[in-house]
Amino acid sequence: MANVIYMDNNATTKVADEVIEEMLPYLNEKYGNPSSMHTFGGSVGKEIARAREQVAALLGCEPDEIIFTSCGTESDNSAIKGTLEMHPNRRKVVTTRVEHPAVLTTCRDLERHGYSVSEISVDRQGCLDLDELGFRMDDNTAIVSVMYANNETGVIFPVKQVAEIVSARGVVFHTDAVQVVGKIPLNLKDSAIDLLSLSGHKLHAPKGVGVLYVRRGTRLGTFMHGGHQESGRRGGTENIPGIIGLGKACELALSHLNEENTTIKALRDKLEKGILESCPDCFVNGDPENRLPNTTNISFEYIEGESILMMLDQFGICASSGSACTSGSLEPSHVLRAMGVPFTAAHGSIRFSLSRYNTEADVDSVIEKIAPIVNRLRELSPFVKSRS
Ligand code: PLP
Repeated sequence: MANVIYMDNNATTKVADEVIEEMLPYLNEKYGNPSSMHTFGGSVGKEIARAREQVAALLGCEPDEIIFTSCGTESDNSAIKGTLEMHPNRRKVVTTRVEHPAVLTTCRDLERHGYSVSEISVDRQGCLDLDELGFRMDDNTAIVSVMYANNETGVIFPVKQVAEIVSARGVVFHTDAVQVVGKIPLNLKDSAIDLLSLSGHKLHAPKGVGVLYVRRGTRLGTFMHGGHQESGRRGGTENIPGIIGLGKACELALSHLNEENTTIKALRDKLEKGILESCPDCFVNGDPENRLPNTTNISFEYIEGESILMMLDQFGICASSGSACTSGSLEPSHVLRAMGVPFTAAHGSIRFSLSRYNTEADVDSVIEKIAPIVNRLRELSPFVKSRS
């Protein structure tokens, strides 16, 4: 599609050209199976080891703490279920109300199997209540799973501090860092985090590859029974092109990390300011300070996010709304509801998420297009009419 302005990078990212180039030989010439005895296949194993080192360098951990998976969802499922398996006498999971469905739906499933789940609230800015974390943990708690940053608002939780509180209580700590890896610096050696999930397609690697970081000494059940791959923890012939691509994407992310907090943040701030100045009755959702540098979630009062998205789409502008269309009714996002965002504003929320491929011209174009769209929709809105 020509002339796309892509600002939906928290949903998925473009695979970097350098990543594609690195992957290609593993799709045509070097297609061997790393478990084979022959050199043709076996040599690919060395390339997996290199990718493991590239991922570990970005996370600040040891290569043998990296387990390749198929996606962030698999990593989250394996972390939580694999921990419960190793702690059969503890039947409780503590998490937050604003996790991604990869964690929340896993927890719903666990409840159906007799486990108890306790969810920590957030305040109006989307920030976590650390006192609540303390009283929700008890002797029955096997694992606490708190996301590093929220996918909808970009709000960053004080995960290092949370990990220390949890670890002091002798409980395993997992964080879903799918939205964080490559956007803010990490140094896992320096933290009490036991388990961390990431996903390739959020950092310019392809879809179909993820990682679970497992701190040395952390007891975790087998993800997938099968062969000896991933030290016997996750059987199944490796997704070699995906793993090679993820390694390269991590290397690139490390070299671009500085840009996230300078260039990309400046573009995001310009976009946000431009929208707030040109559109009345709109506001940013989430803590303005502790936020991912690429994300802004803006509520446009009295109109529906889906309508704004459809009109932006006509200009090739890709963003996203927090609402999910279920059985004909539009449910506002569970994250904005947990934050107490009023109904009329939660329905009209749009997330713009940028990447290093966005330009100033993209930002100018979105600012120019959005005010007429919002004005037009407000003219049609029954909520605006009922106010006047
Ligand atoms: N966790 C978070 C915070 C996410 O944003 C996503 C995807 O949007 C996932 C987990 C799931 O990742 P994947 O699509 O790789 O399964």
